[in-house]
Amino acid sequence: MRAAVQVVFFDLFETLVTEIGPDWPDRTPAQRLGIDDEIFRRVRRTCHQKRMTRRVDFRDILARACNTAGVEVTRGKRALIEDIYAQRLREKALPFERVSESVLQALHQIKSLGIRLGVISNCSVEEVMAWPTCQLMPIFDDVVFSYEVGYMKPDPEIYRLACRRLGITPDQAMFVGDGGSDELRGASAVGMRAYAARWFVNKWPQSIQHKADAGTAGFTTLDNLDALVLTIEKLRI
Ligand SMILES: [Mg+2]
Repeated sequence: MRAAVQVVFFDLFETLVTEIGPDWPDRTPAQRLGIDDEIFRRVRRTCHQKRMTRRVDFRDILARACNTAGVEVTRGKRALIEDIYAQRLREKALPFERVSESVLQALHQIKSLGIRLGVISNCSVEEVMAWPTCQLMPIFDDVVFSYEVGYMKPDPEIYRLACRRLGITPDQAMFVGDGGSDELRGASAVGMRAYAARWFVNKWPQSIQHKADAGTAGFTTLDNLDALVLTIEKLRI
């Protein structure tokens, strides 16, 4: 018989909060800097792992993209970079300012079952600057941000570290996420029970829903928060 679940770990973006909404910017940072979008995407891809596992300043990425595109970083460009950075911080704070009431309610229900809660998130430093001000923060027993710990999902070490910090083994944990970064496979590989969170994904525009499908194939799907709570009620015994 498997061990009872004592801790539920949640992914953050598109699981506890969603970034998909009407406030998506209509101009990309690259367009504002006057450089090609593809060059900017390439620089971001190259720096992705470093951004997710270390404290990297997003302004340095913007300056690097300018250099790669052969665009001189003049004083004017520096000011523009500061402005783009400030805008990014505002945008990244939005999901934390409007946490869904139904998510909060479900988390409180889960806590009332005697289950502890954790977050395991792949994120860069500027993406979660607003976390300490958000309503979710006091509900969680521990939060593992990849940029702080130096590992990112699906690296087994980030899941093991999260378990160690709460004094449990992976078979005593459940992992819930929308499936980005191959996180469900990673969680399952270390022995956690992994479930696909679909309550935000199901509301995404059809054009991008398929992005989530690849990461959740083969895993049990939780279409809504009631299904999440019911599943946890069964696994805690
Ligand atoms: Mg996610």
